Amino acid sequence: MGKILKLSQSIVSKTAAGEVVERPASVVKELIENSIDAGATFISVNVQKGGIKSITVIDNGEGMDDKDLAVCADPHTTSKIYTEEDLERISTLGFRGEALSSIAAVSRLAIKSRTINSVEGNILIMEAGKEMKRSKVGMDFGTVVEVENLFYNTPARKKFIKGIQAEFRQILDNVISNAISRPEIGFVLVHNAKKILDLPNLQTREDRISAVMGKTLFAEMFPVDEDRDHHKMFGFLSNPQASGYKRTGQYIFVNRRPVASKVVTAAVREGYGTLLDRDSYPPFVIFIEAPFDMVNVNIHPRKEEVGFINEDFIFRIVKETVELALRNQNLVYRTDIFGNPFERGVADYTFKKLKGSIDSWKLEGLRPEEIIQIGELYLAIGTKNGMLLVDQHAAHEKVLYERLLDEFDKRRREHKSVSLRTHIIFDLPASESALLEESLTIFERLGFEIERFGDGTYKVRKVPEMLQSHDVKRVILEFLDDLSREKPVRDIDTKNLKTISYLACRSAVKDGDHLEPKEREKLIKDLLKTKTGYTCPHGRPAMVEIPFSALEKMFKRR
Ligand code: ADP
Ligand code: MG
Repeated sequence: MGKILKLSQSIVSKTAAGEVVERPASVVKELIENSIDAGATFISVNVQKGGIKSITVIDNGEGMDDKDLAVCADPHTTSKIYTEEDLERISTLGFRGEALSSIAAVSRLAIKSRTINSVEGNILIMEAGKEMKRSKVGMDFGTVVEVENLFYNTPARKKFIKGIQAEFRQILDNVISNAISRPEIGFVLVHNAKKILDLPNLQTREDRISAVMGKTLFAEMFPVDEDRDHHKMFGFLSNPQASGYKRTGQYIFVNRRPVASKVVTAAVREGYGTLLDRDSYPPFVIFIEAPFDMVNVNIHPRKEEVGFINEDFIFRIVKETVELALRNQNLVYRTDIFGNPFERGVADYTFKKLKGSIDSWKLEGLRPEEIIQIGELYLAIGTKNGMLLVDQHAAHEKVLYERLLDEFDKRRREHKSVSLRTHIIFDLPASESALLEESLTIFERLGFEIERFGDGTYKVRKVPEMLQSHDVKRVILEFLDDLSREKPVRDIDTKNLKTISYLACRSAVKDGDHLEPKEREKLIKDLLKTKTGYTCPHGRPAMVEIPFSALEKMFKRR
């Protein structure tokens, strides 16, 4: 009794804001959407510290006059829909009039805007939802929105912010999605004063996709196009061999809005059918154009998902189009698809090269022929105490790990890398190249010399001595693939160790690799020389000894 009270306006606006603005990337999403709705042909996004410190979005769209500016960050103010009927045919990205007011409630927000008809612009500054300043300002046409100290007044929300890199990755993915859907708009993305993306306006759809996904991957993609019952589906699918084991590179757009859609994702998967194994994901870009009244854009607080009135129809059109397109491709497994970050099985190839570099050796009291390879995975040896079982992958991983670690330590004092006679050149999709940029110093300290060409293209000039006979490109690419699936590592030392263990893992022999007796012996000898040969860098056992006592028990000799 008497326990129910009305929440204060300040709490209401903060909790409501949490629905729209979940993290820095949602702010970026809303601001880009506003710029697109304003008809901009150029959008520049500049973020600091993953957007946690500041986010600035500049556009050359239609702008706002002083009257509109005064109310744009009030709750539920919009120029995009006026009537209930408008809600049935939304063609803009925004429509709820909630974004700017939500952002204003949980940050320090400055909006400058100037329309083409006025000689000067206006500025509005809000703090925690309150107007602090409004005045004239000199500026170019368009709008500049600056968001600082996001969530400074909502500590509960702030706790959910991940590391800078994790937040930035979300922002990057968001900009990439919008960039793919609007090749006519120029996009620039800057993170901590470093230009990550620079996409000119008026690009063709193909050029735009190739620019953000990487030329190499785009070369493995082919177009699809279908028109059925007032619905269109078009875009690009990838050769199944270009699949990766994460969803990176899957983009869906419904009426040009970047969305997640379980129906479409499931339909694509079924369309590929048995061409994919259980956990591989083909990159794709799919645009669906449906009549506005067949799509519900109002089912998600951040408009990240859409609902289809006719889900079954959407499922069928996508599945059948994908299936047919793949059938017409005359797919053949090829061995020349290298340098693709979405590709799997790099380590196998790498090892084929490494194997050649293993030469003869001796192990006291043991002849190579006495080492048996079982299931192309385990090595078994009889010892004085019983039997030694070695997991060849774990063992080799451990050996390489320690060598890389040594290399890393040595590099602090001396340079021990070799120049490549032919430089290795590769290009990466924007999301992968951001990752590489982050890890460049680690690669450098390991003895790599990687030079950035811009445009997602890199040149490797030097590699650590011990990796010179490897397929370096693939080691780097698979490492990045792995790293992007990991949670961000905060501690730099842990990150170094992670890098090293990944490189070791990716270069090591796998199960299924046949080893010649001499290679078996060499591996075991090397393993015995490591500091702790018992486990691989991830803590799995590298060798297990089965003593005679255990064997006797097994055979009930006692
Ligand atoms: P919504 O986008 O749903 O309308 P917002 O809170 O995002 O709601 O924006 C409120 C209004 O402010 C928009 O309807 C639009 O008129 C104006 N506005 C916001 N951003 C811009 C911009 N970059 N350029 C021009 N007008 C803008
Ligand atoms: Mg909006």
